[in-house]
Amino acid sequence: MGEWSGSCHCGAVRFRGEAEIDELTRCDCSLCRRRGALMAKVHESALTIEAGEDALVLYQWNTRRARHWFCGRCGIYPFHRKRAAPDFYGVNVGCLENFDVEAYPWRVADGLTMSVRSGEARSEWSGPRED
Ligand SMILES: [Zn+2]
Repeated sequence: MGEWSGSCHCGAVRFRGEAEIDELTRCDCSLCRRRGALMAKVHESALTIEAGEDALVLYQWNTRRARHWFCGRCGIYPFHRKRAAPDFYGVNVGCLENFDVEAYPWRVADGLTMSVRSGEARSEWSGPRED
């Protein structure tokens, strides 16, 4: 799927992208397991926010490197800036139009052990750890 578009539930936030989506991830960190979204990794150059940038509310925690946005009106998470790869977005594929989620493989990303405050941080992970 090369070109796609998406929105939050109320439609305030609209975006589109041009990137092949090969696989999806869930993440087991304490935020993502509550959020429960299947995500696609997309480079920043491939995603355009068409409307509603002013409706987005930023949530940050842990190292505060990742930037998690949700719509301030309907509460839906459309995308976030990834922590270990800050020039990439994680896009909530549930927000995409006509996206056949069953057609894509998905895996669980190892977010829990990357979390600084989990007490289970993975020693071999090369990403930033400082608070
Ligand atoms: Zn909304």
